[in-house]
Amino acid sequence: MASATDSRYGQKESSDQNFDYMFKILIIGNSSVGKTSFLFRYADDSFTPAFVSTVGIDFKIKTYSWDNAQVLLVGNKCDMEDERVVSSERGRQLADHLGFEFFEASAKDNINVKQTFERLVDVICEKMSESLDTADPAVTGAKQGPQLTDQQAPPHQDCAC
Ligand code: GDP
Ligand code: MG
Repeated sequence: MASATDSRYGQKESSDQNFDYMFKILIIGNSSVGKTSFLFRYADDSFTPAFVSTVGIDFKIKTYSWDNAQVLLVGNKCDMEDERVVSSERGRQLADHLGFEFFEASAKDNINVKQTFERLVDVICEKMSESLDTADPAVTGAKQGPQLTDQQAPPHQDCAC
């Protein structure tokens, strides 16, 4: 599990400090599925084939409400078609069952990495907009919902595998 606020990942010197919103994103999955690689591909557009296990960060969260968490299901390493263990169909079925959108991606070949993060941000913004629309403006002081992107993110690529 990695957080985008982890200093190793999120604090590039060149990073743009001029932003309107900051979201915490958790990448959750079994060891060596490619969580670190996925994040590095997105943040630095880099990939290393070497496996360097992420040193765990111990912290406890009493409540992290799934009601407010926006979740996407990602199957990484779609470039390794010959060694596939989960079919696209099974992945899609699981995502449907859980009510999540499903992406197949490759941190190595840079397939659907940016699209996944951008879609997640869009989903978060849509939910924020909905909650602001239904909230009492007298309480929130909100005048209008967030408008984070001028353009819709392009539809995600189909995995070529
Ligand atoms: P984590 O434990 O989930 O953080 O996994 P890592 O990001 O450390 O990746 C584990 C191993 O899988 C490393 O050797 C990576 O180079 C490799 N890996 C990660 N993503 C991909 C991918 O999309 N395709 C391929 N072929 N290998 C990958
Ligand atoms: Mg890792």
